[in-house]
Amino acid sequence: MEDARSPADAAEASEVGRLLFAQQCEFLRGAASVEDIPRAELPEVAFVGRSNVGKSSLVNALTGRKTLARVSNTPGRTREINFFRLGGRLMLADLPGYGYARVSKTDSARWTELIFAYLRGRPNLRRAVLLIDSRRGPLANDIEVMDLLDRAAVSYQLVLTKADKLKAGELGRIESRTADEARRHAAAHPELIATSAVDGEGIAELRAALAALAVQ
Ligand code: GDP
Repeated sequence: MEDARSPADAAEASEVGRLLFAQQCEFLRGAASVEDIPRAELPEVAFVGRSNVGKSSLVNALTGRKTLARVSNTPGRTREINFFRLGGRLMLADLPGYGYARVSKTDSARWTELIFAYLRGRPNLRRAVLLIDSRRGPLANDIEVMDLLDRAAVSYQLVLTKADKLKAGELGRIESRTADEARRHAAAHPELIATSAVDGEGIAELRAALAALAVQ
């Protein structure tokens, strides 16, 4: 989407983002229950999305590492929140994917319980990044998660994934439909970023947006 800042400001923000994400990123721990969630020591950003949306690929593209977040062959298998510490300045929380058809009602209820407890009780959580597959736009369960984030009063930003799979015109249509959905939600950030882990579109822009939330 259009950046309202001057080109010089945008370039500077992009450089700040590049420097942050060039720092060491270490896996801290996985949390399967609320008790395992690490102490709130740094500003935190949480990544959330449907299984197979491209979340692991995006986290790896942001950090420039190939294997940081496991790219899953079995959708719906990761049931933990994985915490990564980025250069002592920002914590990244990779939330388990939702919406996988073969997950039982009990597992799905457990997902909601863990995520809601995490979202409600995380004072250092600065923003959630909600990933939407650009071929599909927001689906019913994405909208349910948006409602959940609204209720938890967590500010969040929508990010389209796999933008390389669409032609420019199609992407434009999905972007405006997604932005319309964001406007219907109290806690959604107006800025929408289209990304691709394959050709790198939007990665610098997203790094810049997240760097603004880190310890300066
Ligand atoms: P996760 O389940 O949300 O962590 O999704 P993954 O990162 O495991 O990706 C799911 C599938 O989508 C894999 O086959 C990836 O190779 C593919 N994928 C992820 N990101 C992109 C992207 O930006 N472009 C394209 N073309 N494919 C992608």
